[in-house]
Amino acid sequence: MNLEVLEEVKEKAIEDHIPIIMDDTLNVIKEYLEEMKPNRILEIGTAVGYSSSQFVRIAGEQVEIDTIELDEGRANLAIKNIKRIGIEKNIHVMIGNAVEILPTLTGPYDVIFIDANKGKYPFFLVEALRMSHKGTIIFADNVLYKGYVLSDYNKHKQRTAVRHLREYIAEAISNEAFDTQISTVGDGLAISIVK
Ligand code: SAH
Ligand code: MG
Repeated sequence: MNLEVLEEVKEKAIEDHIPIIMDDTLNVIKEYLEEMKPNRILEIGTAVGYSSSQFVRIAGEQVEIDTIELDEGRANLAIKNIKRIGIEKNIHVMIGNAVEILPTLTGPYDVIFIDANKGKYPFFLVEALRMSHKGTIIFADNVLYKGYVLSDYNKHKQRTAVRHLREYIAEAISNEAFDTQISTVGDGLAISIVK
């Protein structure tokens, strides 16, 4: 795969203020992927294909990734980027709303990366669990949302998102189906291993 193009995709995304995965967050996920060598990954929130391309680099040739993106322009750019990087056989971009697409998928997936609209995280977790097996790792990015989630700050215009993220964390921690850790890396990363 062409790592120079991957770097170019990253730089361009940063320039265009597209919220791609932070380096520190990717490094945490990398440790899990290297240990697990997953065959099937599901990503919710493709943006321009940066994180999914990194997952191929880390997980290796065998990996197959299904990734969902609502914004058609971004999804088409992701498809283009993935071709230029040379990993189009590894990544399948689905264009549409994950809320509608997820119920049409069956899985199971070895790794699921939730990185889309925060208001739907609780629903994404239910769908992720449905498509998991013992040992599946469910990562959810941005769960601490700039610190709002753990503070008592309630007047922010994003309070609905904050409420849903708190709900996500509470469910991930209390549901006996998972072992969950909340890492403060980056913007907050929930790591749930299915028991
Ligand atoms: N994972 C990417 C960044 C994703 S940014 C990376 O690290 O490189 C979040 C993306 O989720 C945005 O592009 C946004 O358009 C998309 N998104 C938001 N709500 C969505 C939904 N309901 N279904 C699918 N994609 C959604
Ligand atoms: Mg994110």
